[in-house]
Order: sequence, then C-alpha cells, then structure tokens
Amino acid sequence: MQSIGYYNGKTGPIDQLTVPFTDRGLYFGDGVYDATTAAGGVPFAIDDHIDRFFNSFQAVRIPFAMSKAELRRLICDLCAQVEGDCHMVYWQTTRGCALRGHAFPPEGTSANLLIYISPCQMTPPEQILTLMTAEDIRHHMLNVKTLNLLPNVLTAQLAQENGVDEVVYHRGNLVTEGFHSNIMMIKDGALCSPPADNWILPGITRKHLIQLANKLGIPVKEEAITLDQLFDADEVLVTNSGALCNKVSHIDGKPVGGKAGELVRRLQEAYAQWFNEETRTQTF
Ligand code: PLP
Repeated sequence: MQSIGYYNGKTGPIDQLTVPFTDRGLYFGDGVYDATTAAGGVPFAIDDHIDRFFNSFQAVRIPFAMSKAELRRLICDLCAQVEGDCHMVYWQTTRGCALRGHAFPPEGTSANLLIYISPCQMTPPEQILTLMTAEDIRHHMLNVKTLNLLPNVLTAQLAQENGVDEVVYHRGNLVTEGFHSNIMMIKDGALCSPPADNWILPGITRKHLIQLANKLGIPVKEEAITLDQLFDADEVLVTNSGALCNKVSHIDGKPVGGKAGELVRRLQEAYAQWFNEETRTQTF
C-alpha cells in the first residue's frame, strides 16, 4: 500500500474513507493540524510535531482525548504500513460533529481525528527558490496551526500564477513568514528569524535550524526583520518540514542573497544528517 488513511478508529485506503457531513471542520475550519515527513517508514521529529499539535488544540479548546503516547503510536504504526521511501504525514482534529452553530457544540461532543500518510518528494536542499512579497491578511493566532487556511490558499494560488515558489508575508514593513514556510535570513554570519510570537507559526524546521546553529557556533538572532533588511540579507532561507531549508535567489524579481552559501551549506548538511539518522536508520 502506497498511502493509508485513518478516521476515528477506521483505517483504509484514502479514497475509501469519508468524513461526516456535520464535521465542524467543514463549516468553520474549526480544527487544528500538524504535518511532517516520514522516510523509510519513520516520521521525522514526531515528538516536536505532537507537542505543537497539543499546543494548537489546547489553545482553541478542542477536547482531543488521546494522550501524546497514544497518538504517537498510532501515527508511527500507520507510517510503518506504507511502502515507498518518502511520505507526507498529515493529521488534524476538529471540534466534532454537530449541526451548524458558531459556539461550541454540546458538552460531550467528541473531537474527530483524521490522519493520512501519502507519498511525497522532499524539495532537495540544492533547489533555489524565488519569492514574492504579499501583505499578510491572515488572522491573529498564527502560532496555532488552525485549519483556517483560506488566505494561505489564495496566496499560494497567487504565487503559482506569478511563477514563484513561496511568498514573504509582511505586516507593514515587517516580515512574518510564507504561506507554508518560515522565512529566515543570514546576515553578517548570524542566522536571523522573526521572533516566535503570534504572527508566525513556530516552525519545527525553524526551531531545528536554530538548534543546529547553536551547536555549530553560528550566532542566532530572533528579532523583527524588515523587508529592507531581507532584501539586503546575505542569504534568504525558506524552511518547512517538506523541504528542510532552501536558499532564495529572487524576491519580487530582484536578486537577493548569494553571499553566505558556505554557511548555509554547513547548516543543510548537518540537518540532512540529523534527518537521515532519525528516519532511514531507525525503527520505532
Ligand atoms: N509557516 C506556515 C504558515 C506553515 O504552514 C508551515 C508548515 O506547514 C511552516 C511555517 C513551517 O513549519 P514546519 O517547519 O513545522 O513545517
């Protein structure tokens, strides 16, 4: 089997599983999700992703009932059942099923859990990306990985129509992140990122790069970044779990970065080694 799905205890081929009509995820996007990549049947950094998932559903008060250990076991078991080297591992919980009403459904309504594992290809680290800027029109709880992704969907389409790989969302002159990635930069030998506040998702890849930089003796700055500073960066980086870390060549058609390739290469190599050690050479 190349892919597998799970919904509230039922496992099967993705195209044979269905979600009830009244799932609040459909009406309101009333749910949260997380995702990582599995290689060799082992999900990468699963504990980090499960911790963030718990932070997300607790922040929006979804009564998700499984423990971290139970969810971990379930996801790892599903990953071990699929064939192929590389898979996207996606899971979401919604605030259960109920007829449409904005406030929470009656007490005792159980949360729904959907998981699927499907083949994917990771963006190779040597791939260079192009970006465009876009005003950040999203909500104010971006540290929570909610299902409310309509602005991200519209921005992703805009990026595709403009022939770029990602966007640089900004609020005024301040950089936030991309529609499915964090944006970081290298400046004067330091790895720089906007702070992990409510305006960005605390990316697991972002966190890992900061940990690797600390290990390699590369200074780290978690401070606001302006658009002008980003255009003037030594390298601009895009990070997410489906790609780890890629350099950027252009934003809005203007060349950026290209001045600290060696430092990025060190980070990419250390990260690829970590990823391979944790996934392809281990079993859970
Ligand atoms: N920012 C947004 C809006 C995202 O959707 C994602 C990933 O899905 C990221 C950042 C990167 O997060 P991670 O490194 O945990 O994949």
